[in-house]
Amino acid sequence: MIARKLSLPPEFAYPIDNWRIEQRQFVPARIPQDETLFATANGYLGMRGTFEEGTPAHQHGTFINGFYESWAIPYGESAYGYATHGQTIVNVPDSQVIRLYIDDEPFDLASATIHHFRRVLDLRRGLLERQVLWETPSGRRVLVQSRRLVSFHEKHVAAIVYKVTVFRDRAALTISSEVAKHPPLTPESDDPRQARALERDVLRARESEAEGQRLLLSYVTTNSGMSLACGVDHVLESACRWSSTARCEDGVGAILYSVDAEPGQSITLTKFITYHSSRTDKTGELRARAARTLDRVVANGVGRLLADQRAYLDDFWARSDIELEGLHPRAQQAMRWNLFQLIQAAGRADRSGVPAKGLTAQAYEGHYFWDMDTYMLPFLVYTSPRLALNILRYRYQILDQARQRARQMSQRGALYPWRTINGDEASANYASGTAQYHINAAVAHAIRKYVEATGDEEFLHEQGAEILVETARLWYDLGFFSERQNGQFCIHSVTGPDEYTTVVNNNTYTNLMARNHLRYAAEVVERLRAEAPAQLARLVHRTQLAPEEADGWHRAADAMYIPFDERLGIHPQDDSFLDREVWPFETTPPDHYPLLLHYHPLVIYRHQVLKQADIVLAMFLLSPEFTPEQKRRNFDYYDPLTTGDSSLSASIQSIIAAEAGYHDAALEYLRYAVLMDLGDVSGNVNDGVHVASAGGTWMALVYGIAGLRDNDGKLCFTPTDLLARLRFRLSVGGQLLEVAIADGTATYLLLEGDGLTINHRDEAIALAPGAPVSRPCLRQSEVGQRGRPGGETGLTGRSQEAADPTAAR
Ligand code: BGC
Repeated sequence: MIARKLSLPPEFAYPIDNWRIEQRQFVPARIPQDETLFATANGYLGMRGTFEEGTPAHQHGTFINGFYESWAIPYGESAYGYATHGQTIVNVPDSQVIRLYIDDEPFDLASATIHHFRRVLDLRRGLLERQVLWETPSGRRVLVQSRRLVSFHEKHVAAIVYKVTVFRDRAALTISSEVAKHPPLTPESDDPRQARALERDVLRARESEAEGQRLLLSYVTTNSGMSLACGVDHVLESACRWSSTARCEDGVGAILYSVDAEPGQSITLTKFITYHSSRTDKTGELRARAARTLDRVVANGVGRLLADQRAYLDDFWARSDIELEGLHPRAQQAMRWNLFQLIQAAGRADRSGVPAKGLTAQAYEGHYFWDMDTYMLPFLVYTSPRLALNILRYRYQILDQARQRARQMSQRGALYPWRTINGDEASANYASGTAQYHINAAVAHAIRKYVEATGDEEFLHEQGAEILVETARLWYDLGFFSERQNGQFCIHSVTGPDEYTTVVNNNTYTNLMARNHLRYAAEVVERLRAEAPAQLARLVHRTQLAPEEADGWHRAADAMYIPFDERLGIHPQDDSFLDREVWPFETTPPDHYPLLLHYHPLVIYRHQVLKQADIVLAMFLLSPEFTPEQKRRNFDYYDPLTTGDSSLSASIQSIIAAEAGYHDAALEYLRYAVLMDLGDVSGNVNDGVHVASAGGTWMALVYGIAGLRDNDGKLCFTPTDLLARLRFRLSVGGQLLEVAIADGTATYLLLEGDGLTINHRDEAIALAPGAPVSRPCLRQSEVGQRGRPGGETGLTGRSQEAADPTAAR
């Protein structure tokens, strides 16, 4: 259930185009959303889709992944072990700004007379382009064209080509190309998902230099002690006469161009931009690096940046594109935009994590959550395994802090932070933060999926095993063999994925994931013992692993308590979930969703109501642990209780609905997931991209519609005929597989590699390169379309339905 409506951009102004997000009219009301939809980023540097002229704007935003300010969390009542410091990604000085004046009249879209407006985010070229025909107050016509990119190839570089042509008469034209600071963002509401307002300008300016058409500036953060250099350089091309002056002080600067514009003669300003950052105070060195970067990119010219951008994205799309038909007229466009967001969020994240909003806004403070391990990683594992490895390496990098956090939480092993940038827990809300111990299992599951799909044993031996040992240790120490539960292994006082129920005993998702995690960690240790004694010795040295520890993990896993309610035939979400009263959906007004913005947490906690998939997620991640009957009954029970208030929900509900035979529901959830941001389903796309949902849509197509299950690294497809057409590619152990579904037939084609065995339903198929194999899909008529649990299919207006799941059965 999603108690939200799709709010799609109007087609007359935003036509449907499968490779572009296009805007043909200036629509002031959509500025907040469009700043996210037209954002450009490369995983290191991100810029919101604000206009070059700086106004009108909803939220300016330029972000560097991992560049944050820290601040002491002000608790009214603190307690031992609470996170002490928040971390907020810094909105760094804005180098996009290029102001234009004709005869001293500023060009500002908010007040300008516009004869033509067109803006395009080109997903193949990685380019944001705009074209405006402006009539100045004195009646002159001026064509303003801009193109900008944040380079994937040159991690530290962005560029803008700004071209102005004046028609009819000569004009005095001024261009001010700036590095500007904007007032700090202030959250518009009490929405906890928005970033905390940093109280003052947290960047202290160090050097501010201007030389010729180049500005070089550097800064340090006040508390976190990080440093940043920003440099811009310019090339102006025109047959008109021009001169420039520079001004730069106190962390801001501008190059001012005065041009005698001749009619019909274009004036093209290319602005090369670079940012370099460091965790420590190294401004001198960063400035020198920025200067070198500018020397290089200016010498190579913007043509090289454009060509490299195209080449990078050609390669990305060749491995990662998804073609689909039969879901929604905008589905192809939205899906490609989603995939583009994933590469914009992760492409050059290198050794950093991937923020929940990518680099498109300050919401969620630029933090890394389990979103990257559980929702983004599957896409990366099967399309860009190197980027998946980056995420895992980041996890390894912060392992020591996870060890310390475990000590602080009176536990052995390592406990990964619920949300963080620098590796320390930054969540002040322990109930829906630190208590989500399942973050440890998310990391372990991600390692397993990565290693199984890529065969990268080296990573497993060098780093993965160490993470697995330390995180498995935590489960063994956290849980206990309970006498009251006949010696079963119980894990108490945790929060599962569903944040509408917190600090409970035996969250089924957590116990199942922990069981799997413990077994996998034990198996890896045993394998090392048998096959790689030198690696084992190193592991023992690094972790002080005792010989009997893995046996303990097996015992705990074998005795793991998994709640099950015989009467209902379902898995309770936790020990006490079923004792609670069902949320009064029928009396909850539609505008009271998401519930978290309208009810005190305690009111929510005491009810049976879900923010997001919990057991349903377990049924996807740990598919073999459930019988088909259990899957169906669990889905029947939990679906009507699931608000979808988290964007992480719809894609997962879709996957399990598809498996359980709820085809209408599967498609409807899929539609909402795919259109999550383009259709502003959560109503807050202005606060940035929902990156986890974007990753979820890839899973909903590949695991849902094409029915992939990849347990133990074996690819097994049960493709459905729910979409008229679907085509995607998977990289598996260095081979490239294409799966195409059309008109009820699935065709498997090995594009690269020597040979790959997959399963189509129960049949093993040995694929030889270049030899397609086709098989019929699972037809809807074969499984029989099931009515949706709890009544009519419908993601909206579920709040009006009587959602008593016990009554529904
Ligand atoms: C969800 C979490 C998620 C976070 C960041 C929250 O609303 O409940 O599961 O990690 O958003 O996307």
